[in-house]
Amino acid sequence: MTGPATDVPAPPADDDDVPRFLADLGLPGLVDLHVHFLPERMLHKVWAYFDEAQLHYGTPWPVHYRTSEPERVATLGELGVQTFAPLTYPHKPGMARWLTEWVTDFAAATPGAVRTATLFPEPDVADYLGAAVEAGARVVKVHVQVGGFDPRDPLLRPAWGLLADAGVPAVVHCGNGPIPGPHTGLDVFGEVLTEHPALRVVLAHAGMPDYAGALDLLGRFEHVRLDTTMVGTPFSERIAPLPADWPARLVPVADRVVFGSDFPNIPYPYAEQVRAVARWAAADRRLGAAFLRSVLHDAPVQLIDF
Ligand SMILES: [Zn+2]
Repeated sequence: MTGPATDVPAPPADDDDVPRFLADLGLPGLVDLHVHFLPERMLHKVWAYFDEAQLHYGTPWPVHYRTSEPERVATLGELGVQTFAPLTYPHKPGMARWLTEWVTDFAAATPGAVRTATLFPEPDVADYLGAAVEAGARVVKVHVQVGGFDPRDPLLRPAWGLLADAGVPAVVHCGNGPIPGPHTGLDVFGEVLTEHPALRVVLAHAGMPDYAGALDLLGRFEHVRLDTTMVGTPFSERIAPLPADWPARLVPVADRVVFGSDFPNIPYPYAEQVRAVARWAAADRRLGAAFLRSVLHDAPVQLIDF
C-alpha cells in the first residue's frame, strides 16, 4: 500500500532555511557529491559559456552563485554542507593532470572538501590517476559530454581497472543532457560497465534526460548509483521532465541515490534542489524521511568513506 509520507519536515523555503530542514531530519549536515571548483580563470570561462546558454542549450542559464572562491566556500558552509566533492573536468588532452593537481591542493586547503581527481583518455592517465588515488582521492569526475571522448577508448582501460580495484567512485556525466556529445548515451557507458562490472559509478544527473536508462543500469550493475544533480528542479522539469511515477521508481534503489547539486553553476538557488528531493520523499511513504537522510547524508558518506 502506497501513499504520501507523513514524516517529511516542511521543505526549505529558501537557502537560509536549509540548515533548519537538515536539523529537523536529525542530520549533522549535508554531503554534496557534485560541486564544481576550478581555477578562477577557467571558471570565468565556464560562466561566460553559460552566459551564452541560449545559443548553446536553447535556454538562458543565469549562474546563481557568481561570487569569489572564498565566498562560495562560505556559502556551502552556511547551507549546512559539511562535506563536498569539488569536481573538475578537462575538455581536451593534457589538462587532466594539472586539474587533478590543482583540485588536490584546493581540497587540502579547504575544510569540508574531499580529494578528487579527473581523467581523459591519454597515454599517462593511469600514471596521474594512480598517483591521485594513492594520495587519497575519494571521487573521480568523468565528463563524457564536455570531454567529447569515447569512454570505451582503450586508453582508459587501465584507468577504469585501477578505479574498480581501489573502490574509488567515478561521478560520470554520460547522459545526453543538456545536449548530446559524440559519445554520450547510457547505452555507450553500459558497455564500459559490462567490461568493468565492479566499477563504482555515480550516474550524474540520474542520466538526464534518460532517467529510465539510468534505472536500467542500476538494475544491471550493483555498484552503480545515481546523483540528484539538477534533477527535478523547476528548471530541469522544463527541459527534461521526470516520469510521473519517479518516486515509486526510486523505491527499489532508494539506498543508491546520492545528493548532488552542481553548485555554483546552477541557474537557481540551492534550496530548489533540496526541495526537489524532499518532494520525492514526501510523495511515497516507502521513501519518507529515511530516504532523505540516506540521500542527503548516509549514502554519499558510505560511498566516500572507505
Ligand atoms: Zn556538474
